[in-house]
Amino acid sequence: MSEFHFKRLEKYKVGGTRDKMELKVPLPHSPSGKVYRWCPNVDCTPRLFLLGDAQIPEKLDISQLKRTPGTQGTTCPYCGMDADDDEFNYLGDIKAIQKYIEWAASRDVNDYFVKMAKDFNRSQPRGGLISIKMDIKPDYSQEPRAWREDLIRNLACNICGRKYGVYAIALFCPDCGGKNLHVHFEREIELILQQIDLAEQVAETNNSELSYRILGNAHEDVVTVFETYQKVFYRYMIKKIFPKDQSEKMIDKGAIGNRFQNLDKAKDLYKKLSLDPFSVLTLEELDLMKLNIEKRHVIGHNLSLADEAYADTMSREKPGTTVEILAEEISEFAETVKKIIMELEQLM
Ligand SMILES: [Zn+2]
Repeated sequence: MSEFHFKRLEKYKVGGTRDKMELKVPLPHSPSGKVYRWCPNVDCTPRLFLLGDAQIPEKLDISQLKRTPGTQGTTCPYCGMDADDDEFNYLGDIKAIQKYIEWAASRDVNDYFVKMAKDFNRSQPRGGLISIKMDIKPDYSQEPRAWREDLIRNLACNICGRKYGVYAIALFCPDCGGKNLHVHFEREIELILQQIDLAEQVAETNNSELSYRILGNAHEDVVTVFETYQKVFYRYMIKKIFPKDQSEKMIDKGAIGNRFQNLDKAKDLYKKLSLDPFSVLTLEELDLMKLNIEKRHVIGHNLSLADEAYADTMSREKPGTTVEILAEEISEFAETVKKIIMELEQLM
């Protein structure tokens, strides 16, 4: 077997000897070129995120970095756990690589024997009384390929530029470990502004009822984003500060409920962390927040008809009439929420 070579496997050889090769087989990647990463923290949810290629940022603000981008180490974007890159390997990828190596080795061996049989048969004298023929069945099995799907939320870290994918929301960049909460929030705002544009286009086709409905949904989304981001921040901080037996009770469904839809109730929860993120707002901004949260209630639960509670706030509408939803007001509301999100990121 002196002329034997693992043709396929040797392409991935990075070291070792012919008998004991050291291979570096690339991980299966998604259509956008990202690889799966799996958080080693068993208490983390949802654990799966995707990582794109390292970027070379034009300007790097080192004050925001936890580690130099592209170097050893990964941060879980959801729970913030730091560990070596290998700790974040996805089990399915290891299995896929093992499967590939088995396939490649078996095909390489088969190719060798098929060639050997051909050479042997060719070397046999013709026309003799006895003829010997070697018959090796060629292996035509397909190369095993693992499919990896992209997640819906794909973005790039605003600090190091690393591209990554998560489920909807995350707190940190997996590469430089920097705080990325507001990067996700910016993406939400982008989507909300696109809905406003859509509502304006629909209004031009004289379908004002549909336009109003789309604006209502955009408005509702601002409240949903506001609530979700606070919940994610709050859960992270409680887990970070309190021991597990205490924190589990503090972040369960009953303890949080929909309190983050209400400024006073949210404030009470923040007291457990000795924080007051709403202090960044002026009194007018606080009133604006309260009005918009009430408005969301009637849009979401009362077909946009003002009820007594809504009429009692500083609103213009009488009970039983539809509330006014203006594009500029939604943008202004989103900007105010952004101030709070920026503050949450600072406090992380
Ligand atoms: Zn980064």
